Amino acid sequence: MSDDFLTAEQREIRELVRTIAHERIAPRAAEIDRSHEFPWDVVELFREHGIFGLYFAERDGGTGTGALLGLIVIEEVSKVCASSGLILAAQALGSLALELAGTEEQKQRFLPRLASGEWLAAYALSEAGSGSDSAAMRTSARREGDTYVIDGGKRFITNAGVARLYTVFAKTAPDAGHSGISAFLVESDSPGFAVARLEPKLGIAGSTTGELVFDGCRVPAANRVGEEGDGFRLAMRVLDRSRPGIAAQALGIAQGATDYALEYAKTRVTMGKPIAEHQLVAAKLADMETSCEAARGLLYRVGRLVDAGVDGPELTKASAQAKLVCSDVAMEITTEAVQILGGYGYMQEYPVERMMRDAKITQIYEGTNEIQRLVIARELLKEDRGSGSRVPRTP
Ligand SMILES: Cc1cc2nc3c(=O)[nH]c(=O)nc-3n(C[C@H](O)[C@H](O)[C@H](O)COP(=O)(O)OP(=O)(O)OC[C@H]3O[C@@H](n4cnc5c(N)ncnc54)[C@H](O)[C@@H]3O)c2cc1C
Repeated sequence: MSDDFLTAEQREIRELVRTIAHERIAPRAAEIDRSHEFPWDVVELFREHGIFGLYFAERDGGTGTGALLGLIVIEEVSKVCASSGLILAAQALGSLALELAGTEEQKQRFLPRLASGEWLAAYALSEAGSGSDSAAMRTSARREGDTYVIDGGKRFITNAGVARLYTVFAKTAPDAGHSGISAFLVESDSPGFAVARLEPKLGIAGSTTGELVFDGCRVPAANRVGEEGDGFRLAMRVLDRSRPGIAAQALGIAQGATDYALEYAKTRVTMGKPIAEHQLVAAKLADMETSCEAARGLLYRVGRLVDAGVDGPELTKASAQAKLVCSDVAMEITTEAVQILGGYGYMQEYPVERMMRDAKITQIYEGTNEIQRLVIARELLKEDRGSGSRVPRTP
């Protein structure tokens, strides 16, 4: 699977994570799903093996091993447990604003704790009334001397209640639209901050998703990330780099379901032969494997673009394409995997129904796939491919 293009170091770390995932996380996956409990033991495992460090630069306490390897690791973990894969993707998501726009002082204060996994992070952009239309947010931040006072609420926030540091977007100029938004680092023990509730949900049951309340929440002015008014642009730059993490989670789920369905199809016998030898089932398996490999091509490409320092429209488009394709593939493939297992596929005794429930969220969060299509189309319309002169004008 695309091995030829990986360095020896990337393969070695992938093998290590694959072993940990199979030996330590896979046996826990069904229980994590059933209990709906956040898996602190998996966090501890990631801490022990320095896996959080893969998402950070060396100067910040990380390994500096690059974005592509980080994606491969999320993919490996998500093959066996999507909730555990999300722990890594969410750590990157919650830390990226600080990495991209934080001051040296802010970075030194927080990044080593995030790189070691001592602290977990969260990214709080969405609100009850503003998900896709994030600029319509109502949470406000008003400057009072050396502090900002934040009022409002955030909804559907991954890692709510387990994160120690929240990157929160709020309006510092409520009438200025996109340009009125700023970003803040809010520690979980800040006065006026609370997690109001955690939400039960369809899948990724081991991940917390919750509502945050800011009631006169005071944070030091030194916790503002970037300039006042730069928050929306920063939020979008973060998503360009974090969406591939969700694509990697989706691809891991898809490949995990493909691998499981393949093994099952080799041993389940109907009409005198293994179902894998019935052409209709074999064709499904061939399509599943091919879709995974095609999605992997887009995902690894975006990892390489980030590692090559590519930014701006090319990254925005490539990142949205990877998230769109990997998540659609995950939903299609997990549905087919349930079909290949027949009645057993529908039962909780087998993992594919969990994979199907886990896959759905990847088409929704960090921008729905409708929004990814809008993003891709917007970038496409800006491109000049020099073909204009070859297209005759319509009357
Ligand atoms: C489990 C979970 C975890 C999450 N984690 C986080 C997190 O950590 N941090 C965070 O900030 N947010 C998080 N979210 C929020 C998530 O990003 C939003 O739910 C998502 O962006 C969609 O927003 P919405 O729910 O308000 O749907 P809406 O924006 O109301 O969209 C509803 C439907 O309309 C479609 N739609 C909306 N606008 C358009 C348009 N212009 N053109 C075409 N179709 C459109 C959408 O695609 C969707 O199908 C999480 C959500 C969930 C469910």
